[in-house]
Amino acid sequence: MEKDINNIIEESVKYLKYWNSNKKIPLYKNDFKNYIEPEDNQITIHIENNPDSSEEIYHNDNMENQKIDTIVSDKQELFLENWASCENLTVFENEICKCTKCAIGNTRIKFVFGTGNPESKVVLVGEAPGADEDKEGKPFVGRAGKLLTDILKAINFSRDEVYICNILKCRPPENRNPEPQEISNCIPYLFKQLSLIKPDLILALGSFAAQNLLNLNLSLGKMRGKFYEIIISDKTVKVLVTYHPAALLRNPKWKYDTWEDVKMLRKEYDKISK
Ligand code: SF4
Repeated sequence: MEKDINNIIEESVKYLKYWNSNKKIPLYKNDFKNYIEPEDNQITIHIENNPDSSEEIYHNDNMENQKIDTIVSDKQELFLENWASCENLTVFENEICKCTKCAIGNTRIKFVFGTGNPESKVVLVGEAPGADEDKEGKPFVGRAGKLLTDILKAINFSRDEVYICNILKCRPPENRNPEPQEISNCIPYLFKQLSLIKPDLILALGSFAAQNLLNLNLSLGKMRGKFYEIIISDKTVKVLVTYHPAALLRNPKWKYDTWEDVKMLRKEYDKISK
């Protein structure tokens, strides 16, 4: 019995470590809430990547029904990455700008974190850097970037007033679509970024941004035209979906719908800014 419980807990911790290191999501005490103490006396967990850390984390000679979260909470730092505690965008960018969690971290020219007003009420989220962005280290600087600047101007925003970033911080070669693992590696950075900016409104540019922000598997046509609400660090943020400017360059007929979308964004911005 003792051996079985040890195995279960050891496997669970390995799984959580794997989950944490691959999806880059910090683990918190609450994740352990439902783990009830075993009936045996002692559990020892060997933490992966650190063979010397055979730690006695649980000893329950006389304790009954104590939850393991009170023990594991002391070990939270084992599951957190340094960037999780960054308190401003500059520190956060410095912390992650050498990231090579995906292969594209080794092929990028420049890391593309994001630009604009770090306290903006409006954040625009695209898909991934292209060739021009990769060279300059800034999002939306090529032809699509110029079109985005014009779209913003048309609704009386300058680029410096809003914040612009992407789901991925590195360029996928040949501008291929982001791979699921790359999104899963990088999106915690985006949510951290958003939790520091604290916007009221997000404009998702293109289906990759929209599907991953909203966790929906719908076509862009079905997602646009209305506001969604997502919670980021306890704050409710409204998300509107529209076409990616690069798609508009290929299909100018979508410009009319985009114009309708961005007018909605401006109207909502004016409403919440009153
Ligand atoms: S895409 Fe994101 S997670 Fe992947 S290497 Fe670049 S910064 Fe790191």
